[in-house]
Amino acid sequence: MARYTDPVCKRCRREKVKLYLKGTRCYTPKCPIDREAPPPGMHGLRRSKVSEYGIRLREKQKLKFFYGVLERQFLRYFEIAGRTTGNTGEALLTLLERRLDNIVHRLGFAPSRPAARAMVAHGHVTVNGRKCDVPSMLLKAGDVIKVKTRDRSLKLARNNLQTTPPQVPDFLMITNNDEPTATMTRLPTRQDVDPRISDIREQLIIEIVTR
Ligand code: SF4
Repeated sequence: MARYTDPVCKRCRREKVKLYLKGTRCYTPKCPIDREAPPPGMHGLRRSKVSEYGIRLREKQKLKFFYGVLERQFLRYFEIAGRTTGNTGEALLTLLERRLDNIVHRLGFAPSRPAARAMVAHGHVTVNGRKCDVPSMLLKAGDVIKVKTRDRSLKLARNNLQTTPPQVPDFLMITNNDEPTATMTRLPTRQDVDPRISDIREQLIIEIVTR
């Protein structure tokens, strides 16, 4: 399975925004973005004019890095979004929001999306009572997400819930705090997109993908 292997903070430095890929560390003064670290590379400090193409490319990369998806998978989401009725950009964002690893993170069971991805891949999470180790699984309204009832999994999720209490979005409802369980009450909309990326300009992404 392909994956990014670059140092994590380098992605935030490249995009010049916080992408929250390291959990609690992202909220400490150690975050390179808070320390105003320059973009990576020998010419990171050089100020050059960004082209129209460059602006659109950076917007697309930002969204991909934030949700932890690679180019091929991103294009597949774009294709699905294009086939739905309504606004393609909004459909793309809501598809990304429905990923199991994103939901696990937004429920607070894991401190970051990469951590949620590992948690799912290691079999700590069940969906509708069945083990699911596919982080990219798209959830539907009514799905029940639960941390596996074994000591290791419960301890992990409870610890994470304690250290980073979540701001659970409207489309999710935690139904049991003791054995962390939640339900997706409805499909997410544009308003439900993670506030930390909600200022993304999806129109620019459509323009670069369809050019
Ligand atoms: Fe690193 Fe997190 Fe800061 Fe990004 S937001 S630079 S991942 S510490």
